[in-house]
Amino acid sequence: MADQDETKVHSASVQELLRAIPKVDEFLSWVDHMQAPVRFIKAAVREVLNIEREIILGGRAGKLEELGREVLLAKFDKRLKGKLTPNFRTVINATGVIIHTNMGRSLLPREAMDGLVKVGSRYSNLEFDLTTGKRGSRYSLVEDLLCELTGAEAGLVVNNNAAAVLLALDTLAKNREVIVSRGQLVEIGGSFRIPEVMEKSGAFLREVGATNRTHLWDYENAINEQTSLLLKVHMSNYRIIGFTSEVTLPEMIELGRKHNLPVMEDLGSGSLVDLTRFGLQKEPTVGEVVKAGVDVVTFSGDKLLGGPQAGLILGKRDIIGRIKKNPLNRALRIDKFTLAGLEAILRLYFDEEKALTVIPTLALMGLPPAVIERRAVRLIRRIRKSLADCCEMSTVPVASRVGGGAMPEQDLPSRAVALRPVSMKVTELERKLRETSMPVIGRIENEALLLDMRTVADDEIPLLAAALFDVFEVEEK
Ligand SMILES: *Cc1c(COP(=O)(O)O)cnc(C)c1O
Repeated sequence: MADQDETKVHSASVQELLRAIPKVDEFLSWVDHMQAPVRFIKAAVREVLNIEREIILGGRAGKLEELGREVLLAKFDKRLKGKLTPNFRTVINATGVIIHTNMGRSLLPREAMDGLVKVGSRYSNLEFDLTTGKRGSRYSLVEDLLCELTGAEAGLVVNNNAAAVLLALDTLAKNREVIVSRGQLVEIGGSFRIPEVMEKSGAFLREVGATNRTHLWDYENAINEQTSLLLKVHMSNYRIIGFTSEVTLPEMIELGRKHNLPVMEDLGSGSLVDLTRFGLQKEPTVGEVVKAGVDVVTFSGDKLLGGPQAGLILGKRDIIGRIKKNPLNRALRIDKFTLAGLEAILRLYFDEEKALTVIPTLALMGLPPAVIERRAVRLIRRIRKSLADCCEMSTVPVASRVGGGAMPEQDLPSRAVALRPVSMKVTELERKLRETSMPVIGRIENEALLLDMRTVADDEIPLLAAALFDVFEVEEK
C-alpha cells in the first residue's frame, strides 16, 4: 500500500510540473526581441522545453523553482549562444605539437593566405591555358615548381597523401602484387592503414620479412610474374628499435632495375629542407629520394612541407603520365584554394632562408628556446596578479613534438607555463579552458596543466590570458 501511495504522490507532482512548463508561444514572447535568426531562437526554446520535460518524466528532478522564468531564460541564453557560435573555430594550441592533425596541421603564412583569398573571390585560370586559350590542367600550375625544387621529371597533386598513395597503387598495381616489408605495414592516425589502402586500390599485398628485420633477399625471393611494384613506406609515427634491419631505398631501386620493376616510396611527411638544422635526426629530403632514382614518391602538403592539405606525387615522366590519366584522379582532385596556397608555399622555398622564417611549420621547429621562454614569462606577467589566489604558476622545461607522424621519438626543447589551480582540479581547469570562447588546449602532467608556449603565437598571449581570467572568473589586474 505504501508503495502505491508514493507512486500516486509522484505522478501527481509530475502532472503539476508538466503543467508548469511554459508553452512554446509563451516562451517565444519572452525572447522575440532578441537579435538572432528566428530559427535559432525557436530551436533553442524547443530544446530547453524538451529537456525540462524529459527531466520531469524521467523522475530525475522535480522542483517548481527549476521552471521559473529567470532559470529557464538563463538556460535558453546558453543554448542560443551555443547555436550562434560557429562550429568550426580557431583554438589556441598550447600542446607544443607543431603539426597537430586534430588542430589543422600546418599554419599558412600570409603569402599563401593572400593567394587563397584572391582565387576565392575572383575567376581564375584554374583549368584554362592562357597561352592556347583552351582547357588546361589544374596541377600543371604547380608541376614545374615541384620539379624545379626536387629534381623530379614530373608530378601532380591530389587531395591528400592518402589519396596520392591510393591513386598511385591503383594505377601501377591493380590486380597485381606489391611487395612491402612487414615492418612498414603502418597505420597512420585517422584509419589510414597501408594494407587497407592497398586492398581498396585492388592491389595485392605481398608482405616480406619479419617485423623487425627485412633483407634484400626477402624482396628478391618474393618477386614473381605477378609483381608490379616494390613499395617502401615511411614508418612515420613509430620506430622499431633493437635488433633491426631495413633495406635501403638505393638497394630497392637497384633490385627494381634488375627485375624491371618500378619502386615507390610513401614518404608521409616529405620535407624539402634538411631537418638536421633543427637538431633533428637526418631524414632524406624529397629531393634526395628523387635523386636516388625512385620511380614515384608521395608525401603530404600539410606536414613538414608546411602547406595546405594536399597529396604530392612526383616521379618519372612515363609513370606520372599514367597516374594523370587514371579516371580516379578526377575524384581525388585538389581544389582551387589548396592549389593557390600550395603554389605560394612552393614559391617561398625558392629562397630557402626566407622559407625557414616565413613558413610557420619550419619557423616553429626552429624557434630558439630563449624566444619561447620570453613568451612564457610574458604570459605569467600578464596573469600573475589576477590569478595569484587561484593558482600556482611557474615556467618549466618541456619537450615539444614535430607531430604529423614525423620524428615520433625526438624532442624539441621548449618551455611551458605550468598551472596548478588551488580551488579546482587540474582536470577541471583543462576542461574549462577548452570550453571558453577562445578554446585553449594544453596537457596535464604531474598534476599541472602545461601550456607549451612554442605553438602559442605572440598575439595569442592576451587571448590566452583572457581565457584564464574567464575560467577563474576574475578581472584582469
Ligand atoms: C601522414 C601519412 C599518410 C597520410 O597522409 P595524409 O596527407 O594525412 O592523407 C600516408 N602515409 C604516411 C607514411 C604518412 O605519414
